[in-house]
Amino acid sequence: MARVRFAPSPTGQLHLGSARTAVFNWLYARHTGGEFVLRIEDTDLNRSENQYTDSILADMKWMGMDHNEFYKQSDRFDIYRAHCDKLLETGHAYYCTCTRDDLIERNKQRGITDEITKYDGHCRGNMTVPDGPHIVRVDLGEDRDIIFRDTVRNRIRVNTKELDDFVLWKSDGSPTYNFAVVIDDSLMKISHIIRGEDHITNTAKQIILYEYLGFPVPEWAHLPLVFDKDHTPLSKRKGSTNVDYYRRKGILPEALLNYIARLGWSHGDDEIFTVPQLIEYFSLEKLNKSNAVYDEDKMIWVNARHIKTIDIPALIRHFGEFMAEAKLSPVERMNDAEWLVRAMEILRERNNTLEDLYNEMAAFATSEYSIAPDAQAKLSELEAEPGVRDAYTQAADIIRALPDYSALDGLEEKLRAVSETTGVKFGKLVQTLRIRLTGKTVSPDIISVIKLLGRELKARLV
Ligand code: GLU
Repeated sequence: MARVRFAPSPTGQLHLGSARTAVFNWLYARHTGGEFVLRIEDTDLNRSENQYTDSILADMKWMGMDHNEFYKQSDRFDIYRAHCDKLLETGHAYYCTCTRDDLIERNKQRGITDEITKYDGHCRGNMTVPDGPHIVRVDLGEDRDIIFRDTVRNRIRVNTKELDDFVLWKSDGSPTYNFAVVIDDSLMKISHIIRGEDHITNTAKQIILYEYLGFPVPEWAHLPLVFDKDHTPLSKRKGSTNVDYYRRKGILPEALLNYIARLGWSHGDDEIFTVPQLIEYFSLEKLNKSNAVYDEDKMIWVNARHIKTIDIPALIRHFGEFMAEAKLSPVERMNDAEWLVRAMEILRERNNTLEDLYNEMAAFATSEYSIAPDAQAKLSELEAEPGVRDAYTQAADIIRALPDYSALDGLEEKLRAVSETTGVKFGKLVQTLRIRLTGKTVSPDIISVIKLLGRELKARLV
């Protein structure tokens, strides 16, 4: 039974890369029957905003990733401070008054040009609280290797020479990420830390703090990063990679979960999974070692598969939420529950997103109707051909006489018979009907069109 956490910083909307970390942790918690902790890491007082906490929570909820416990680091400063004092008491931390400019100047004098703010240990051993502004740094001690086991990468080694006496407590009275995260992961008894491999250096720093504080070290799984097709890491600044973007575009939450789960995890060659299947199959052993590549076309393909196979009531529920979110009103007949089911059954076969589904359905749901100019031109051309008008009139009579529009067995045969007797090709007859009924040259098959239009048909069969 794993106890895992997702710990987003509320400095922006939930981004696909972070959502992937959330998905893997959530799936692992649910797979093992364990617990999923959601922790908002808002210690950076300047960059954290409540609106982002709210939008992250809304996106998590939308994706169905429920949590067992919820924390906000800003509520826990006293706990962090107590542990900081403990490290000062045991000599593992010290007060530092060096400014950024001091570090840059000293590094310059020593000929260091790359890591210009790397700390040189100047204030090491300073245990007296300074009068003016100050910070608290960890004392890394002698250079040594930090070695840890990682589920994805096996053994990882980082030498402390690559690090410096990093900051635990900032001059504005707030703890740093690397410090607060260790206190929380330990006190919250997190068993596995699953996060992006961009955190490997942080992990080495954190392990030092676990040792100094006498906390047991959890297990680690560092996920390969997600790259764009152009081989750059997915960036928080690209709007299209926020969860919110997919939501507004009409991606189903289960499809997004499915797509994201495959960014760095596999189950044979399978691509399409329901959420219960993902929970059943997910395992850390099957995490990939190579970077994942984000491909929007593939996401849309996965979405189309889910739209076609999900239960109709669930699809209708998502459709309603999508409309509310996108501030789209239901068009006339969308309010008729029976009609909506029929429309969904037909139109989901042809549409890849809820947005496309809405747009196509809206045209059938309204009593407003006109023939588009290009379609009118085509219609005039068709009706100028011998027999077409006659075939159309016969077909219109048959359609008008239908007792109802839900079961249309045998209708196609009857229309084919009209085509036979009039000598007008079936395709031409259908195209004439299509334009007269929909006002467009492209539509679902004609039987489906008739089913969808139902009582609207009579007004259009002129
Ligand atoms: N707040 C950190 C982030 O958003 C969490 C990293 C971690 O999982 O420890 O990057």
